[in-house]
Amino acid sequence: MTVQKLVIGNWKMNGSIAQLRAFADVALRDVRGCEAALCVPHPLLHAAQAVFGATRLRWGAQDCSAEEEGAFTGEVSARMIRELGARYVIVGHSERRAGHGETDGQIAAKAQRALAAGLTPIVCIGENAEERDGEQTAVVLRRQLLQLMRVLGRTLASVVLAYEPLWAIGSGNTAAPGLIDDTHGAIADMLAFHAGLSAHTVRILYGGSVHPRNAGAIMTSSLVSGVLVGGASLEPTDFMEIWKAATRCSAIAPQRLAPITATSRG
Ligand code: PEP
Repeated sequence: MTVQKLVIGNWKMNGSIAQLRAFADVALRDVRGCEAALCVPHPLLHAAQAVFGATRLRWGAQDCSAEEEGAFTGEVSARMIRELGARYVIVGHSERRAGHGETDGQIAAKAQRALAAGLTPIVCIGENAEERDGEQTAVVLRRQLLQLMRVLGRTLASVVLAYEPLWAIGSGNTAAPGLIDDTHGAIADMLAFHAGLSAHTVRILYGGSVHPRNAGAIMTSSLVSGVLVGGASLEPTDFMEIWKAATRCSAIAPQRLAPITATSRG
């Protein structure tokens, strides 16, 4: 069995219709095997649908409302995003947790709304530098995951998780592959222990200063289902290089790699 890696770009509050076209041109010339999507600002979703439709590149949004519809000025519903052909929506990015005070409960409600609308939510989790230094990483991740499990139940299996240590985002300070493996293993164990989900049921991406030079090393591991890319997703050639690395790593059969079980990690 071949596990396909997933590459998600997060444009944040960047980009333009011209930039979407530049990506579409490169994606048309340089088709890659595994799945890749760009999560763009809401006003660009319509153009993304128009220009990416003929390419292998998919598109998504960076947030959605926890509400279905109604008097919520400025909010964008999951159904509206889905209507624009999007496949993914990022929820719980650390910039929204920190800058907009989003709680684990609100993030779980957004993920639930996204699933109901037919979108795949990419739920970001991760610790800050202080929490890592204070050996609180597992406590933080468990708290973030438990709320998600409570709200989503078995539908958690349809979510993509993105482990994004805050100290690695936009800092150039990428987590070492060993640390990523250990943390992804710990997340897999929590999913097995608390939700009865066996390894590889939930895809777990890594995010934080991924670039063309480190993407291959990160994705070689069977514990890493792909990457969430911020800064390097704004440059078509960088993004294509990461997509190529993901395609190469997708050819690795998991049975040739070290198996993980719920009890193999502490
Ligand atoms: C992000 O913000 O989700 C991210 C991973 O950013 P960067 O790749 O720039 O660290």
